[in-house]
Formats: sequence, structure tokens, C-alpha cells
Amino acid sequence: MKPIVYVTRTIPEVALALLRQYCEVIYRDEVPPPSREEILRSVENVDAIYCTLNERMDKEIIDTSPRLKVIGTMSVGVDHIDVEYATSRGIYIVYTPGVLTETTADLAFALMLATARRVVEGDRMIREGRWKLAWAPTMMLGYDVHGKKLGIIGLGRIGAAVARRAKGFNMKIYYYDIMRRRELEDELGVEYMELPQLLKESDFISIHVPLTAETKHLISEKELRMMKPTAILINTSRGPVVDEKALVKALREGWIAGAGLDVFELEPLPADSPLIELPNVVLTPHIGSASYDTRNRMAEYAAEGIIKVLKGEEPENLYNREVVKIRPLHSVKMI
Ligand code: NAP
Repeated sequence: MKPIVYVTRTIPEVALALLRQYCEVIYRDEVPPPSREEILRSVENVDAIYCTLNERMDKEIIDTSPRLKVIGTMSVGVDHIDVEYATSRGIYIVYTPGVLTETTADLAFALMLATARRVVEGDRMIREGRWKLAWAPTMMLGYDVHGKKLGIIGLGRIGAAVARRAKGFNMKIYYYDIMRRRELEDELGVEYMELPQLLKESDFISIHVPLTAETKHLISEKELRMMKPTAILINTSRGPVVDEKALVKALREGWIAGAGLDVFELEPLPADSPLIELPNVVLTPHIGSASYDTRNRMAEYAAEGIIKVLKGEEPENLYNREVVKIRPLHSVKMI
């Protein structure tokens, strides 16, 4: 009998075709995520769940299928999965590290440039018929990016890719991370700083930590008050890493100059969010990895991971490596 995999929503065809080669696929071919009740109903008897970051994989869902062996998520963030519980139950978690790194770093840089140089404000000015003077010495002035100081919070895969781009802009690069990255300090010429010092020194701050209990509201009122009034904050990690209420206050009251945000505490961003009214903010709808090539590769990578586990082979994109000791791979082999 083929293993059964539940796919929570529409995914690129390349991944679906791959899953169908080896599995019986329960495919919910709809773009919006399923309701919790629908997930609970659908996973009762499955061997694998293929999900995205919008579906919370908690204890109740994990316990619904006694046959569950692997959860594959089409994301590098795993904050929507109860990793500890899944691991204790011997459930393998596969994710998509690496394949979205460069695409997400591109967007972080796009937000940095767009916010500093008021690209969206300028576009709006033209479309709304407010461009009256062809050129004026003081019109729409912004901040240079080249040659400035960039502080990277979380020098992992994406943080390092942002640093590589910043080198091309001749920026001075600082970083803060839970660990010193000495090999990257040598390779990229980046300098380690404790968080308060990095906040005080940097002209641009770009956040690239995962969302965990430790990083929730890592940037809140205290941290925002340490930043320069000319500084710009970029967040392409996860919304709750920044205390959004405090950020709105900081932007309104001019503690910082601007923000470029791809992620929010609540997504989609509510229509009455005060961020929408602020001119010094550039907003994108969680599209960090949203390029045609990268989304195809992410979809395929998550599918490959699921299949590997069901073949009893260790996938390179296994997130909870310690699970192997709890439930050896030969005992999950179905293909
Ligand atoms: P990564 O390679 O794991 O990098 C994260 C870095 O942050 C690591 O160096 C990590 O250190 C460090 N870190 C973890 N906890 C920390 C803490 N409490 N304080 C300081 N540093 C800490 O991950 P990545 O691939 O670069 O992705 C980063 C995050 O970006 C993902 O988790 C995801 O949430 C987000 N993301 C968003 C989008 C989007 O669409 N906007 C796209 C892709 C990714 P350790 O390795 O020692 O833990």
C-alpha cells in the first residue's frame, strides 16, 4: 500500500507530480489555507502532512493521525510546528533551508533601497497627480545606502547573503547573533557586536533570526529607542520578532526614520493597521521567497524530504535530526 500524504493547499505542480509518483495524495487544491477543523478531519489517517507556514501543526493535529511519520513544510521557518512535541512522538520534520536564501536576501535589499530612497512614495506621488515640479533641490530627499553602516541581526544563511550584497554597496557591516560566526567574519569582513551597540551604531538594521520564544519582541520599545533617528529597520524574518505597537510609536514620533516590512504580527495585515497610514514605511505582503524559481524549488524540496523519510533514508533537509534516535528511519520506511 502506498503511503498517504495530505497536502493542505495548492502547491507548484512539480512537487505534486513528485509526491504522486510514490504516494496516494489527498490534495486540497485551494489557494487559501484550510480551517483547523478541515485539517483535523483530513489528517486522521495519513502518513505525511505537506503544509505551509500558515497551518499550525500543534499537539492536537500531530496526535490526530496515529500513522503520522513526517511533516514537510514549504518554508525555512518552523515556528508554526510544535517541533519538541513532534520530535518526542518520533515525527520527522523536513523544511526548505538554503533554496530561498538568495531570493529573500534580494527582497531585504529591495526594502532597504525602497525605504531609504522613498521609491514607493515617489511612485504614489506620480500616480496621484502630485508631481508638480520637474525637479527641485530639496524634493523627496532620502538616505544613501551605499557606504553606510548595516547591522544584521542573525547572521545565518539569509543574514550572510544580505551581507554579501552589502559588500557590493561598500557598506560597513556589523552583526549580532546568538553565536560568533568567525569564519564569516573573515570571509565577509563583518564585525560582531552585542545587540545594544549594534542598534546604536547602525544606519540600517536588517533582521534575520527565526521566531522562537527568545526572539519574540527581540526588538521592542527599549531597542527602538537605542536606534539613530536616521536609522531604517528592515524585517523579512517573522512579524512577532518586532513589537509592532512600539514600532508604530517609533515611526510616528521619529525615534527612527523608516521601516521596510515584509512580515507582521498579524497576517494578512489588518486594514486598520496604523502602519498603513505611515508614509515612512514600505510594506510587502510576506513575499520574501516569492519568485517563480524559488517557490518551485521550495515546493520540490519539501516533497523530496517527505519521500526520503518514507523511503527510510535521511533527508538533507531534516530539521529535527535528533528524531532519528527516537524513531529510527528503518521503522518509518514505507516505499
Ligand atoms: P538560519 O540560517 O537558521 O539563520 C538564523 C540565524 O539567527 C542563525 O545564525 C541563528 O543561530 C540565529 N539566531 C537564532 N536564535 C537567535 C537569537 N535568539 N538571537 C540571535 N540570533 C539567533 O535561518 P535563515 O535561513 O537565514 O532564515 C531566517 C528566518 O527568516 C527564518 O527562520 C524565517 O522565519 C525567515 N524567512 C522569512 C522569509 C519571508 O518570506 N519573509 C523567507 C525566508 C525566511 P543558530 O544557527 O545558532 O540557531
